[in-house]
This record gives sequence, structure tokens and C-alpha cells, in this order.
Amino acid sequence: AGVEAMRIDDTPRAKSKHLDVLAEFGKAEAKNAANFVVIGHVDAGKSTLMGRLLYDLNVVDKRTIDRYRKEAEKMGKSSFALAWVLDQGSEERARGVTIDIATNTFETDKTSFTILDAPGHRDFIPNMIAGASQADFAVLVIDANTGSFESGLKGQTKEHALLVRSMGVQRIIIVVNKLDTVGWAEDRFTEISTQVSAFLIAAGFLSKNITFIPCSGLHGDNITRRSTEPAASWYQGPTLVEELDNSEPAGRALSKPLRLTIGDIFRGGVQNPLSISSRIESGSLQVGDALLVQPSSQKCFVKALEIDNEPVDWAVAGQNVTLHLSGIEEQYLKIGDVLCTPSNPIQNVKQFTAKVLAFEFLTPSQIDIHRGRLHTPGRIVEIVAVLDKHTGAVVGKKKPRVVKPGLIARIVVELEAPVPLEAPGRVVLRGNGETVAAGLLE
Ligand code: GDP
Repeated sequence: AGVEAMRIDDTPRAKSKHLDVLAEFGKAEAKNAANFVVIGHVDAGKSTLMGRLLYDLNVVDKRTIDRYRKEAEKMGKSSFALAWVLDQGSEERARGVTIDIATNTFETDKTSFTILDAPGHRDFIPNMIAGASQADFAVLVIDANTGSFESGLKGQTKEHALLVRSMGVQRIIIVVNKLDTVGWAEDRFTEISTQVSAFLIAAGFLSKNITFIPCSGLHGDNITRRSTEPAASWYQGPTLVEELDNSEPAGRALSKPLRLTIGDIFRGGVQNPLSISSRIESGSLQVGDALLVQPSSQKCFVKALEIDNEPVDWAVAGQNVTLHLSGIEEQYLKIGDVLCTPSNPIQNVKQFTAKVLAFEFLTPSQIDIHRGRLHTPGRIVEIVAVLDKHTGAVVGKKKPRVVKPGLIARIVVELEAPVPLEAPGRVVLRGNGETVAAGLLE
């Protein structure tokens, strides 16, 4: 008595159409899919910029914006209306900050984008990590206003850029924002670009993967349309949307084994009592497939699939999907768990080696390991060596006792319980509420 029966959807396994998913994908001429994370200091204008982007691309209708504007005026914060497009929930509105990563999608002719909105508040770094761990590229927003850029540099601007780079993000678009506040001064744009370039290159970005765009998110200049401000005529480069569309198709790992980390779980639907949503990291799947869940090593079946609320027969790497599952008890599924191909599963590991960037002094110590939405306690058991940022060669003596902030090191981490991890996954180490290091599994 007292033990609640676990719900299990034991509908007969959905019939597979036995599709050749790669061939189907070829025929469908599906759009390139890209996920990006928005980073930068708090108040740099990230939410306003993304709200503007969605508004100008007609993802949000004028009525919604007008309603937000009225609500915002009542609260005496009229300029926040655009930001609210991203910030769902009235508590967030009242506080005027973006708390969770709101996922928003929009499309251009070439690409279907998902914005993983990363909030600028320090306490919210775990959310930003979840975003960065899925990002194909980053948009760094910088407030060009006098003094703001400088304080942002001391604040989260550098920390976020280092974090995304050390998590394997290679391409970065820098929006030099609020240029309306400095009269579209070209020399201010140049000054900021020069300084930011220098530290991004030092952080390991290649200069060919760095682009700067002068913008005003609030007024919509150089976002979806070229600025019409006479003072801004010196800029003839791409708008933000044109630059986003320049993205190389992110190496879609279609033919690799299926890997999908559970981003969200929905329970209790009438037709589909157990569903999950996620982005497929590699491989493909179709209705009727048997999948393995790690770390529980339980099997389940794909009962139905949806993309953008439309039922589909199959899905491939890069797409954000909802999976309706059958044949598994919900206790075996957690956010952060990995679904994979039973014939080629991801292994549960108790120990791993990673190449990480230190944000704080690193010593063998207790830490929390984050991989996307998965997090688990563990311990740095060994610092193997400090490595050169660019060449990766060992610097100094082996097995140093401590790694200084800003240096790259190879470390060995032991976990309290086995979890599914494999190279080249992105991991972040946190201790006492701070990000202490971030990097790639080896
Ligand atoms: P976040 O914390 O980075 O998401 O920043 P918000 O989008 O909430 O913006 C912070 C403040 O800057 C708000 O008062 C915005 O109205 C203002 N802001 C954002 N973008 C611009 C811009 O391009 N120009 C001007 N003048 N103000 C802006």
C-alpha cells in the first residue's frame, strides 16, 4: 500500500514504415536547421533584439506586441514590450528579466532557426549552459553605450564568450547594439570591434568565424532591414538576418548512431501519456523504432513523432522533435537522459577525461557536472596537464596541483553514479554556484 502504480503506455508497438530515412531526407529538401544561443551582459538588449527579430519576421503579430506595449506602459516600462515576446510568464515580466531559456523558432528562405535565449543574470548560468551545449553558433550582444561596453567586458561579456568557445561553439556573430545611443558613431563601432576581436581570438575563435554588425534592436536597424539613419550610412555590410543565413549547414551527423538528450518530459496526455521533446544530436529515427534509454538501459518504442506540432514519420539530426513513447515506465525517463539506437548505444561511464577551460582555480575537488540538461555530482580526481590554448601541447610540468583561471587543462573526473557521456560531448563543471570550468570530453 502507498506505492503508486507506475503508468505505462502499453499500446501495441506502432507499425514501422521501414523508411530509408536518409533517402527521404534527401527527397524532402528540408531546410537547413540551426540553433543559436544569445549571450552577453545583462541589459545589453538581448531580449529586445530577439523580440525585434521575431516581430520583423512576422513570427509575432502586431496585436500581441500592441497588447504587450499597453501592459508595459501600465508598469512604466514601455520599452520592454519587445523583450516580452521572449519572456513568457508574468513574474518574469514584472521583474523585467528572462529567466528560463525560452525556445523560439523562426524561418528564413534557407534556414529554420531556433533561438536558445540565454539570460544575462549570473545565477542563470546553468540555463545558458543548457543553451550553449546545443548551439551551432552564438550571437553575442554588446551594449555600445558609453561606459556600458566597458562594464560589460568586466561582467558577463567575456565569461559568456569563453564559455561558449570552450564548449565547442566555433562561430560567433557580434551585435554591437544600441548604436542609436551614440549617434551611430563609426569610431565607437570600430573601437568595440577591435577590442572584442582581440579577446575572442585569444579565447580561441578563428577570425574568419567572427562577424560584427552595428545594430539597434530597439529601433530595428540592421536586423531584418538596412538602417535608414543617415548617420549609419557608413555601414554597408549584411544585416543580422543575412549574416544568420550565411551559416554553413551545421554538419548534420545523419549517418551516425542516434543520440538525443531529453530536454523536456510531458506526462499525462490522454492519447499519449508519456512524451519527450528534444533536438536530435545525431542519427535519425522513425515511428515504430525501438530505442534504448540511458542510464536506465530500458527499452521504449516511438509511438508517434511531431515536428512543430505536425505529425511526421521520421526525423533527423538537427531537428527539434516531440516523441510520443510507449512500452516504458516513466520512472526510467529523466530530463538529461539519452535516447539511442539499441544496437549502438551510448555507454554509461563512471569516469571521463576532458579538455576544459578553467574559470576559477581548479584543484582536485567535489564538483557538479552538467551536460546540457543532465547534471550529476562528481569529483576532479586528477589534473593531467595544463595545455597550450592554440596547439594543445602540454605546458609546464605534468600533474600540476592547481590550474589558474583562464588556462586550458586536461582533467579526469569521477562521477558518483554512471551517466551516459561520450566524446565530443560538451561538459560544464560547477561548484558552489559558480562555473568553475567548461569543455569537451575526450
Ligand atoms: P537583456 O537583459 O540583455 O535581455 O536586455 P533587454 O532586452 O531587457 O534590454 C535592456 C534595456 O535596454 C531595456 O530598457 C531596453 O529597452 C534597452 N534597449 C535594448 N536595445 C536597445 C537599443 O537598441 N537601443 C536603445 N536605446 N535601448 C535599447
